[in-house]
Amino acid sequence: MHNVVIIGGGVAGLTAGIYAARSNLSPILIEGMQPGGQLTITSDVENYPGFSQPIAGPELMMNMRAQAERLGLTIKSGEVASVNLNVRPFTISVGNEVFETKTIIAATGASAMWLGLESEETLRGKGVSACATCDGFFFKNKHVIVVGGGDTAMEEANYLTHFAQKVTVVHRRDSLRASKTMQERSFNNRKIEFVWNSVVDEILGSEGNSVTGVRLKNVQTNEMLDISCDGVFIAIGHKPNTNIFKGQLEMNDSGYIITKKTSMETSVPGVFAAGDCQDDVYRQATTASGTGCMAAVDADRYLQCM
Ligand code: NDP
Repeated sequence: MHNVVIIGGGVAGLTAGIYAARSNLSPILIEGMQPGGQLTITSDVENYPGFSQPIAGPELMMNMRAQAERLGLTIKSGEVASVNLNVRPFTISVGNEVFETKTIIAATGASAMWLGLESEETLRGKGVSACATCDGFFFKNKHVIVVGGGDTAMEEANYLTHFAQKVTVVHRRDSLRASKTMQERSFNNRKIEFVWNSVVDEILGSEGNSVTGVRLKNVQTNEMLDISCDGVFIAIGHKPNTNIFKGQLEMNDSGYIITKKTSMETSVPGVFAAGDCQDDVYRQATTASGTGCMAAVDADRYLQCM
């Protein structure tokens, strides 16, 4: 029987692990398919305090993981198949193993969203990607499209200019959602062009199954425009990874776990949530770290009152 099991190995989960370990709770963290979470597919991080120069996302996460392990966090790999929050202790099934625990910290993060086109699915990995850091290298001197107008899209577009000859950002409105800094950086980058008020209607592929272009639809005029390109990067936001908690924890309409106003406790006492599976407002590494800390402090207080 464990005191606390943390589900998710991104910033929120690892910070919760650091705090729970320092509270002598002997925490276990279960990390899934993407150890380190979303920051491992981020290029330079320059807004996480403590680093005067940008730090690569994967390096930041490796440091965080090593720090948590040094302090006593036990990390296990595996996909959580199900959790049962109707019993005490709670149970968590991972493969053939079942963990029993007095408290849970849900830190399952969020995943990239896709447009939902059939061509997007067929051509995924063949020129269609949601991760410039992972796949940008394959587009040396090529033309790539980035879909989206938020910070992720601008970050991806700027990163891709290290490789690509030209990056065209396709956005469905005529102004960006991204922060002013990212907007300025993108507008000042000569390799980046913008197509406004347009959505991707179809991703075009060759018979050999690689991307050859996109068919865009102007949402104001309904005009169609074919642009040839070699790659398409989708950067239209994220959805929370909260399926395992569906029907057991209170969530909002978008599937984000609801926590109390004054703590990280969910609708089930003893279950806490932190990071991008709970936060649909700020969604920053620093806020994920903050809520991870809060969840661990809350779990510790809960255990003391048991
Ligand atoms: P956002 O939700 O901020 O932006 C998503 C973008 O995609 C929007 O421009 C949206 O358009 C567009 N979009 C959504 N759905 C579709 C669709 N179906 N078709 C076409 N376009 C679509 O997500 P991000 O991932 O960019 O950012 C998430 C959070 O992470 C934000 O809080 C952001 O500030 C933060 N972040 C911070 C970074 C940093 O500080 N360095 C880096 C990356 C992210 P519309 O604008 O019309 O809604």
